[in-house]
Amino acid sequence: MSFQSLGLSEALLKAISKKGYTTPSPIQQKAIPPVLEGKDVLASAQTGTGKTAGFTLPLLHILSENPKEKYRPIRALILTPTRELAAQVYANVKEYSEFLKLRSAVIFGGVNQKPQIATLRQGIDVLVATPGRLLDLQNQGVLSLKRIEIFVLDEADRMLDMGFLRDIERTIKLMPDKRQNLMFSATFSKDIKKLAHGILNHPVQVEAEPENSTVEAITQKVYRVAKGLKTGLIIKLISEGKWKQVLVFTRTKHGANKLCKKMINSGITAAAIHGNKSQGARTKALSGFKNGSVNVLVATDIAARGLDIPLLPHVVNFELPNISEDYVHRIGRTGRAGASGEALSLVSADETTYLRDIEKLVGMKIPSEVIEGFEPDPNASTLPEKRQQRQSRNGQNRNKSKGENIASRNNSRKPKRNNRRSSNNNRT
Ligand code: AMP
Repeated sequence: MSFQSLGLSEALLKAISKKGYTTPSPIQQKAIPPVLEGKDVLASAQTGTGKTAGFTLPLLHILSENPKEKYRPIRALILTPTRELAAQVYANVKEYSEFLKLRSAVIFGGVNQKPQIATLRQGIDVLVATPGRLLDLQNQGVLSLKRIEIFVLDEADRMLDMGFLRDIERTIKLMPDKRQNLMFSATFSKDIKKLAHGILNHPVQVEAEPENSTVEAITQKVYRVAKGLKTGLIIKLISEGKWKQVLVFTRTKHGANKLCKKMINSGITAAAIHGNKSQGARTKALSGFKNGSVNVLVATDIAARGLDIPLLPHVVNFELPNISEDYVHRIGRTGRAGASGEALSLVSADETTYLRDIEKLVGMKIPSEVIEGFEPDPNASTLPEKRQQRQSRNGQNRNKSKGENIASRNNSRKPKRNNRRSSNNNRT
């Protein structure tokens, strides 16, 4: 199948060929035709599948085929969960609309509002936005969503993870009822289905390749290691392997900072990217990583979500995620576009449950090894860390009243999995 056969305009085909794309990706082949027909679409696709062009190209086609009066109301809204994703989607919109008479803008928090307001006042057709800044500027009367014709909700699952449900609901109330809706999500939980039901009208459902096929193309390995030796091990792997582009995942923002500092002290050029970093620092870290001046990017799941870093040779899980699906997203960043990639996980005893859940999800036992000098601690508890902390607190309280250590008895109980929503507060 070619882009021509999808029925896209000459101006868009010119922009596509300038980008160097020859064939539409599977998600583009499936999503573009129904969007062009004006239908609502529910798409299952994650970053790396070409999903952005999957909604941007037909959206631009529709808007440019029906030009509006000189006064430019915002006609299309693309909502994304993170600033980085907003910036990336906007960059795509700009490139694909190079030969069209459409204007676009991006707004997100963490940066000065004034230039964004000035751009909006000039009149734009397509707005890419994160929820907070969008509602903020709408409240100030700087923008109106009353003339929206097409609404795109990108990475809907992350939106919910990040607690944007209320903002999405508020945004929807600001738009006209009659509009076309496109929703993209990597995963389909009950909450996502409920959200889709509330937003979409008889949607056409499309799907990129199942995630499993991505996983199979990636070499996965587990290093069993004592918790306290992880930093030493990762520094050894990166230094001795002379790895040039490594994406490292930690569970918390604090953990990302700490690890990054230790790497820098060991002579590795590293940068951390997470929700507490200023927009400038995040952009700088990402561009350094892309141009090769930064070898290691230490990121939390939410910060890394949606980053377009093609052909990544190494992904390391410094800590396993407590949500198995996040593991699949993380390692999906290596071996993209047919290139080979390696995904390593440093696993300490307290992560045993997470590893078991991940292996169940990916449907395979991940080969594991131990490196001499970095052996796991044979006496460490296999309970997840939070559970251990809770138990030791409980034990202390009860000891005070009963003089008996109940926590040690509880050690044999099966650990409960952490709740997705409640564990997110420190993950951005
Ligand atoms: P996305 O999933 O939208 O983040 O896109 C992932 C990467 O694939 C981006 O670098 C796009 O520029 C690139 N891309 C999108 N569509 C195509 C295509 N049809 N052919 C080749 N590369 C593409």
